[in-house]
Amino acid sequence: MKIFNSLTKNVEEFVTNEPGKVNMYTCGPTVYHYAHIGNLRSYIMEDVLEKTLRYSGYDVKRVMNITDVGHLSSDADTGEDKMIKGAKREHKTVMEIAKFYTDAFFDDCAKLNIKVPDVVEPATNCIDEFINMIGTLLDKGYAYKAGENIYFDTSKLKSYYVFGNQSEEELMVGVRDDVSEDTNKRNRNDFVLWFTKSKFEDQALKWDSPWGVGYPGWHIECSCISMKHLGESMDIHCGGIDNMFPHHTNEIAQSEAFTGHKWCNYWFHVHHLVEQGADGKAGKMSKSKGEFLTVSLLEEKGYDPIAYRFFCLQSHYRKPLLFSFDALDQAVGTFRKLKNRIASIEAEGEVRDEVIKEWHDKFTESVGNDINTSMGITLVYDVLKSDITGNEKRAVIEDYDKVLSLDLLKEESAEAGADDELVAYIEAKIEERKEAKKNKDFAKADAIRDELAAKGITIKDTREGVVWTI
Ligand code: AMP
Ligand code: ZN
Repeated sequence: MKIFNSLTKNVEEFVTNEPGKVNMYTCGPTVYHYAHIGNLRSYIMEDVLEKTLRYSGYDVKRVMNITDVGHLSSDADTGEDKMIKGAKREHKTVMEIAKFYTDAFFDDCAKLNIKVPDVVEPATNCIDEFINMIGTLLDKGYAYKAGENIYFDTSKLKSYYVFGNQSEEELMVGVRDDVSEDTNKRNRNDFVLWFTKSKFEDQALKWDSPWGVGYPGWHIECSCISMKHLGESMDIHCGGIDNMFPHHTNEIAQSEAFTGHKWCNYWFHVHHLVEQGADGKAGKMSKSKGEFLTVSLLEEKGYDPIAYRFFCLQSHYRKPLLFSFDALDQAVGTFRKLKNRIASIEAEGEVRDEVIKEWHDKFTESVGNDINTSMGITLVYDVLKSDITGNEKRAVIEDYDKVLSLDLLKEESAEAGADDELVAYIEAKIEERKEAKKNKDFAKADAIRDELAAKGITIKDTREGVVWTI
């Protein structure tokens, strides 16, 4: 397999610490609100990464944290605590909020065919591990106490900006005009490991520690949770591109200061789902902007969540993906046609092992080349066009779906069973009707609807275009 590594900025051959085994870590959600479909783009692509590794024969252990404490509105330790913000908004306790939105997150994942990682660990489960790591960092001189908080001293490292080429804009992540900088910090990028005294008097969750009653900073959880389950070295770590700085930079700083050696070999970052703002400029989808799109909202508008997964898989994870309903509608149409073609494969002919293996290897090579999901979809079309038997086609597509997870063979749709010719006929009639409606020839539009109805085909106008069933 080949993977782009954010540390080296190159597509590299993927070599694991232990042959055949992959230790993989994913930054999980901050459970103060629903995940938006941008967050879920990251989790979909990370799911494909995990499944591609498994498909290529690796034994994968994947760990994910749940952030239920310590993440402030700004990634640079300023602003309000996100969990408290959620609790205040809904007049609930922080733990009620955490439970509710953790469940909601996994409900969304299930709807998008995202596999639950092997280990899921909330930050509040691991306070002892955090205290232990922070103690060692203090002993080793990598941390200091100021204003009653414990900070990591970034000036103690030979190289802090390990991802290199940090643009000024990236360095400014989290430092917003409305929040004042923490004056306890010796260096601008020092970060909080443990808060005891701070302006968050109403912090709901507090624990005793050698430095007083308080709560952990955000970054420490990923270092400790990964080491708890994967040991002091790991193969691959993933997250959205905004996690690269400061979160992943800080994770590396404290982990390597703690162990004294390299921590993680490959860093996998998913670029953002972006949307067109009122000013016409495309920007990252985010919750702080107020209204945001969730899986439930897509469902309310009549979209199948798996069609959103298909939309994400059509483009490469290392490119920003512009979301619009028009673009999603297009993906829905393409996905529907693809599923209809698959449903019309005749169950005929033998299934030769060598044919299945040949197509399996093609997939490993194409998708395994830096998680090229659109090539994976192209291969499905290649299978359909090929001259292998119908039974082989179905077997190969079933095999590919272990990674794509698009329910390609699931015939839940009433359209299933329609052959290519019938699909072409229906699509042509729908086009003709659209044209008639555009020309205000409603009599003709109705006649087409009746013509289809006479053949047992019902059509419905929806937000994502015309939907038909037999
Ligand atoms: P959070 O719940 O805010 O910690 O974010 C969960 C994950 O979603 C992180 O890996 C983020 O990097 C990622 N993320 C946040 N916004 C976007 C976006 N617009 N597109 C893709 N991923 C995102
Ligand atoms: Zn993390």
